[in-house]
Amino acid sequence: MRNNTTDFKEIAGIVTDKLGHYLDESQKGTLKTLVQKPAEALAKDMQLEKWVKQGGLNAKSVEIFMDTYLKNTQHLHHPHYIGHQVAVTHVASGIADFIHGTINNPMAIYEMGPAAATIEKFLVNWMLEKIGWFKGSHLGDFSKIESNGGGVLTHGGSLANLTALCAARAKIAPESWTKGTPQDLVILASEEAHYSIARTISIIGLGKEAIIPVAVDNLKVMKHEALLPAYQKMMTQGKRVMAVVANACTTATGLHDPLEEIGAFCQAHNLWFHVDGAHGASALLSNKEKHLLKGIELADSIIWDAHKMMRTSSLCAAVLFKDFRTMEAAFQQKGSYLFHEKEEVGFDLLPYAVECTKAALGTKLFWVLAAEGEKGLETYINNTYKNTRSFYDLINTHPDFECPYLPESNILCFRYTKFGLDNEFQLALRNTIVERGNFYITSTEFNDVRYLRITVMNDLTREEHIMGLIDEIIKVAHGIQDSNYH
Ligand SMILES: *Cc1c(COP(=O)(O)O)cnc(C)c1O
Repeated sequence: MRNNTTDFKEIAGIVTDKLGHYLDESQKGTLKTLVQKPAEALAKDMQLEKWVKQGGLNAKSVEIFMDTYLKNTQHLHHPHYIGHQVAVTHVASGIADFIHGTINNPMAIYEMGPAAATIEKFLVNWMLEKIGWFKGSHLGDFSKIESNGGGVLTHGGSLANLTALCAARAKIAPESWTKGTPQDLVILASEEAHYSIARTISIIGLGKEAIIPVAVDNLKVMKHEALLPAYQKMMTQGKRVMAVVANACTTATGLHDPLEEIGAFCQAHNLWFHVDGAHGASALLSNKEKHLLKGIELADSIIWDAHKMMRTSSLCAAVLFKDFRTMEAAFQQKGSYLFHEKEEVGFDLLPYAVECTKAALGTKLFWVLAAEGEKGLETYINNTYKNTRSFYDLINTHPDFECPYLPESNILCFRYTKFGLDNEFQLALRNTIVERGNFYITSTEFNDVRYLRITVMNDLTREEHIMGLIDEIIKVAHGIQDSNYH
């Protein structure tokens, strides 16, 4: 493959055909979701040694390479893919990746990609508007408006959490930027907070012990009444609470913390309120489901991943702030709002994100929206949430299964109880199912109980597929049980 447009068009055509076929086959659901070969064998199959040392991929060999590559993938578009919280992408998102990969506009500074930078800023306004934090007259209004919200797109929710909590730190201890983080800072969070919160706290120099766990109920949802005693205890120890972190929703169960009550508490005590909405914030797009996020507008910062519930390829996450000035203070001692506005055209997003070079993240989400409109995404969210509730009914009414709770989102936990309640057995079930490759599911543990877990990311996953999963689990469970006795 020469580095010219003739070869580019020819190979891109071949690859597009292969991908089209791959999507068709995946969606039909006849092949396995996942076949895992050992990496050494895969390296041989893909002829990595030859390609890396010698190059020379061409129109003929690319077909063989693509066939091998695509065979050894996790087939997210398969209706039996009900595993992790990763978007089953809309085809439009892939086209945005293709454009970005070809023209490469790392647009964190405006002049390195004015179109992509404008799309990012517009989408941030769109997300702010969904929360109620946008004060402009139209979404293309990029001027600095008093008390407007702000935000930036990042390479993932983990970086978004880090960015948000740096802003929280700048608010309570602005000297941190030059002098280091004062050691009397803590955060209040539930034990179910995503692990990126613990990483953030360690990265900013506090250490994990600075995360003060707030009591949760038996489903790991934060008890808002537990905030006051936790807060008072910190006060008596001479600690300062940098932020309260809530989940919308939690990774393991897909349940939501009571944002309205937590927000009211934070307002009453003048505390920074951070909502980790990586997965669940997309319910803001659904008139039916957005009640789950009641009170989210009380937050000071929110993270929201497009690459989870907005059909966008990884990665495209947003960190959003109620007051844009708090964002401007995150990575410096003084907010840049104190300085003069830039004289040049456009705006630079560079000061607000951890990243320097940044992909044209917003274009991926833009292409999905441009294809489907907000309504299309709303329908998608409504369908996946609704389907998950009907899958709950199917599984929970089966005598040999039990679900610990009615799902609020598209994440559902359950276990197979016929042969007892042993955690190891559930884990063996999950591992054998994944090994067989007919379904892809995950597993999680809470209250010391191991559950099987599905996340319904694919709106092609229907009741007939879940009935198939039930059959598969029963078959595998009997297989394990028999082999245990022989
Ligand atoms: C997925 C997730 C994250 C991490 O986001 P990434 O984009 O994977 O870095 C953080 N918090 C919650 C609640 C999540 O579900």
